[in-house]
Amino acid sequence: MTTDGDELLAERLKEHGLRVTPQRLAIYRALVATAEHPTAQMLYERLQPALPSLSQATVYNSLQALVACGLVHELGDAGDGALHYDADLSPHLNLVCTRCHRIEDFFDPSLALVDSAVNSTSGYRIMGARLVYYGLCAACQAAPAGAASTAP
Ligand SMILES: [Zn+2]
Repeated sequence: MTTDGDELLAERLKEHGLRVTPQRLAIYRALVATAEHPTAQMLYERLQPALPSLSQATVYNSLQALVACGLVHELGDAGDGALHYDADLSPHLNLVCTRCHRIEDFFDPSLALVDSAVNSTSGYRIMGARLVYYGLCAACQAAPAGAASTAP
């Protein structure tokens, strides 16, 4: 990994006015590396073994800082009552399964057109976007009613 190496990620944090700490960098790196849209709790459980000093409060505060400076989007909950986070800022929408609470990305060239139209004609300085379609994922449609599918 060279394009999203730690130096580049640290540089991006600095460009956005954030102090670079090992914890903050680890959280941002984890978000950039995954397409799973983790919650704060998921990030904490994933990173804590390698960073024993990491606290849930630090994860939460770091996420707030990353969201505030525009590097990370806060996605709201997926029917599971927890906020999910995404470091992929390219125009895409999220598919949310209301049964197993997975969030998947959906890309389509038309979304870039919508994005540029909003940016050029709304008069807003856009800080982020949240476009969600919800329903049942393919695995949950195939599963018997009432049984949550297990993630692949
Ligand atoms: Zn599902």
